[in-house]
Amino acid sequence: MWKKVKQYILQLVFPVKCLGCGKEHTLLCPSCINAIPVYSTPSRRQLPHCNTLLIATHYHHPLVKKTIKMAKYRPYASPLITLLSSIVIQYVKQFPTTITYISDNHFVLIPIPLSRHTYARRGFNQARYIAQELCKEFKWPVHTKLLIKVKRTPSQTELSYTSRKANIKGVFSVLKDQPLKNIILVDDVITTGATLEEAAKTLKRAGAQNVWAIVLAKS
Ligand SMILES: [Zn+2]
Repeated sequence: MWKKVKQYILQLVFPVKCLGCGKEHTLLCPSCINAIPVYSTPSRRQLPHCNTLLIATHYHHPLVKKTIKMAKYRPYASPLITLLSSIVIQYVKQFPTTITYISDNHFVLIPIPLSRHTYARRGFNQARYIAQELCKEFKWPVHTKLLIKVKRTPSQTELSYTSRKANIKGVFSVLKDQPLKNIILVDDVITTGATLEEAAKTLKRAGAQNVWAIVLAKS
């Protein structure tokens, strides 16, 4: 009953309309999704411990920004992130040699974890949805229990790379029961790269050899 009431209220506040053009009964229509620009090369950026970065699109594209923000509301998180993941898949499919390399070398996808507190409050992790969609498409396994976030991060907005690096130092920990060699971190947005770098560093200290990242959008 309560679920239905909540659904009804949500329909009033956020009626189901395409976030791009307003077309009804869809959260993102095919033509708006197709209008989102997808990069055609791997990112030129490199982080010291995470040197292959695959980033699909730009966060500052109005529709990408709007969709990622809207995906913070629980009922829309899963469908919207699934739609955005199609952009990540479209991007990755441009590199068939890389896809084969990832599969042949048994890379494992690890979504950037949230702290236990944030996960409990939000009820989902966007990065995990993206990893699950990549797993469905490419059959790359997802591990969600190896890397954990042991501390909450104070807000990172407005911080420089150096300040973010200090802010995030020591927030991740690795549960060592399953040592993994080749890892691809998955996240929704990369800003300075400090989070990915800290996660990669933590994994390498625990024995990982290669750590890459696949990210939906860069800001
Ligand atoms: Zn549309």
